[in-house]
Amino acid sequence: MKETKHINTDPLRIREILAKSLEMQVLDLTEVSALLALEDSSLWFEVFDTARRVKEKVYGKRIVLFAPLYLSNECTNDCLYCGFRTGNSDARRKTLTVDEAVQEASLLAGRGYKRLLLVTSEHAKLAGIEYIEKVVDAIYSSTDIRILHANTAPMNVEDFRRLKGAGIGVYQCFQETYHIPTYRFMHPKGAKADYAWRLGVMDRAVEAGFEDIGMGVLLGLYDWRWETGALIAHCKRLINKYGFGPHTLSVPRLQPAQGSMVHNLHYNVSDDDIKKIVAIYRLALPYTGVVISTREPAGLRDKLLSIGASQISAGSKTSPWGYVEGGDTEQFETGDKRSLEEIIGKIVSLGYMPSLCTACYREGRSGEKFRHLAETKAIKAFCNENALLSLKEYIEDCASGDVKDQLMKMLDKEINKSTNGLAEKFRLIEQGKRDIHV
Ligand code: SAM
Ligand code: SF4
Repeated sequence: MKETKHINTDPLRIREILAKSLEMQVLDLTEVSALLALEDSSLWFEVFDTARRVKEKVYGKRIVLFAPLYLSNECTNDCLYCGFRTGNSDARRKTLTVDEAVQEASLLAGRGYKRLLLVTSEHAKLAGIEYIEKVVDAIYSSTDIRILHANTAPMNVEDFRRLKGAGIGVYQCFQETYHIPTYRFMHPKGAKADYAWRLGVMDRAVEAGFEDIGMGVLLGLYDWRWETGALIAHCKRLINKYGFGPHTLSVPRLQPAQGSMVHNLHYNVSDDDIKKIVAIYRLALPYTGVVISTREPAGLRDKLLSIGASQISAGSKTSPWGYVEGGDTEQFETGDKRSLEEIIGKIVSLGYMPSLCTACYREGRSGEKFRHLAETKAIKAFCNENALLSLKEYIEDCASGDVKDQLMKMLDKEINKSTNGLAEKFRLIEQGKRDIHV
């Protein structure tokens, strides 16, 4: 990027920016530009370490775990990079029945998941709001899943109200690219061809009552520095307008997909670039959750935990019916094939605390309340204890072998440190009580 020549990236300036982030202040766009333009690799180590410290100031050591549940791959759009696109004539199409969606959710609940992300293609007739409402209602009433988030096509305000009313926690949608010529090229058909409709999606979701929104760009479509800056600018616009920005930022990177028309990427995003992007999101918006999906390979995901990531998916399938039967056409290939149990074991061995907690949603600590707790650093205490309670349930209901032993050792140590009745709560869980949280 030629423009970066004019940006001051000397160590003093970069350290000033890092200090501001450590004070939990949102960075301004000139500060974000300095981080994006930084080349000195020794300073990048300081940036990564500061991102870790910022993350631990807000959330402590906890890493939230979830899985996606794909409802439909029948799509009326033709996003050139996606296996579900209407032009992929080799795709085997499926929309889960409500009963099948419940079976998928029950299977995941049986593995220990408490939080799922519902994902659908765009199809007003087959996978519109009425269908989604029915699915959400059925999963809440007949499984142990405690919170559902949703990554669906953009809706109008009225449909967003229904989605929120159904009990969705976070509404997530990625702009894919902010670069208009690239957007037009990549999205030639269907409702998604309308750039402005997609750009306004979060305004409509907020107007409908969603305070917890999840945003992202699909890395690999255009210059990642430009996209990262544009996404942060979008977040800051929302903060100025509504007083809050996204609850989460995701870091999806383009993966091979059956029927994809996007090969030989001109805007390749390397593993090192992903680390930089995660650190910049963390530093620019210190209170925002940073989500890493199973698109990324295991080794990189493990490293990102110490650079600012706070939520990861585990054991994911990216096709409808993927958990019960292996599924049909995947949306894209996953890079991390480890099960939830394997990932839990890995997180513990890296010194972090896996969490299956959904307490904030149970207690209505979302939106403004959550932000206030994060800003006063009180959320950390909730997160730590709730993560431990969720792991105790996991030990009782699902864990096996070495991972079970690892978790039991960790919980024993925590009981010894605890002064707030943790041992008593663990006893209640052993006796069969569930969903104990603070
Ligand atoms: N269909 C809705 C949409 O497009 O907004 C929501 C679900 S879509 C299945 C979720 C996201 O998957 C998209 O927003 C896109 O960023 C991502 N995606 C699509 N194809 C991908 C690929 N080949 N590699 C990585 N991510 C991909
Ligand atoms: Fe459909 Fe979403 Fe895939 Fe585009 S990214 S083809 S809208 S499922």
